[in-house]
Amino acid sequence: MNTKSCAFLLQLSRMGFSLCASKAPRCSTGALSLTTVTSTSLPHMSPHSPVLCSHSYSSSIKVRPYIQYIKHKILSPPSPPYSHVCQVGDPVLRSQAAAVDPAAITGAEIQQVINTMVKVMRKLECVGLSAPQIGVPLRILALEYPEQMLKDSSPALRDSLGISVQPLRIFVNPKLRVLDGRTVVFQEACESISGFSATVSRYLSVEVSGLNAKGEAVTWQASGWPARILQHEMDHLDGVLYIDRMDSKTFIDVNWPSHNE
Ligand SMILES: [Zn+2]
Repeated sequence: MNTKSCAFLLQLSRMGFSLCASKAPRCSTGALSLTTVTSTSLPHMSPHSPVLCSHSYSSSIKVRPYIQYIKHKILSPPSPPYSHVCQVGDPVLRSQAAAVDPAAITGAEIQQVINTMVKVMRKLECVGLSAPQIGVPLRILALEYPEQMLKDSSPALRDSLGISVQPLRIFVNPKLRVLDGRTVVFQEACESISGFSATVSRYLSVEVSGLNAKGEAVTWQASGWPARILQHEMDHLDGVLYIDRMDSKTFIDVNWPSHNE
């Protein structure tokens, strides 16, 4: 891959690839083809694959940094809603999130969850987040595509991916309906699987209905990139991660070139 195409991929990665969502670069040849296919069924891989490298388990566990150890000695450990994103392996990411009592949406507890989600999403500069990712197994998701992020992308990229500025949207107890059964394959990443990426097939156009942060009924039709974000975040509410839907041969460590330096 030449420098120009790699730079293009880096730009793609910065611009489009933050679902809930890693903004890390990826330069794998052929991993970024944008292909529209007519299949209405999405590939689904078992989340229960055997661990092939169990011998590396102990060596992969890092010793907790001393400063963190001291912090936990003084302060009690954090509790959900976290101000960080849970990582794959955390059971909360594989749980079926529970519906929220509509009467509780405007209450302090749920409002705190929503506010924390927005705060974390903006801190990580990603464009979508689900409540399970901050340790809360409730059916809440947040989406936002800020103008600044759009400004950093090329018009060609915006057109090809269907990227557009999206205001902050919160959906509580969302239901998804497919409007266009054609699918689009594109590279996807997730803040809960930090440092990795793979291509995933998603529906072209979907509709989401649910309640907003005030408990009011809302419906939104999305296509292109926002539709991908929605489908990714909806999956989180059912304990599904993009690695369950990915083309496994496109799965990459986004920093793989640095390992050869
Ligand atoms: Zn995610």
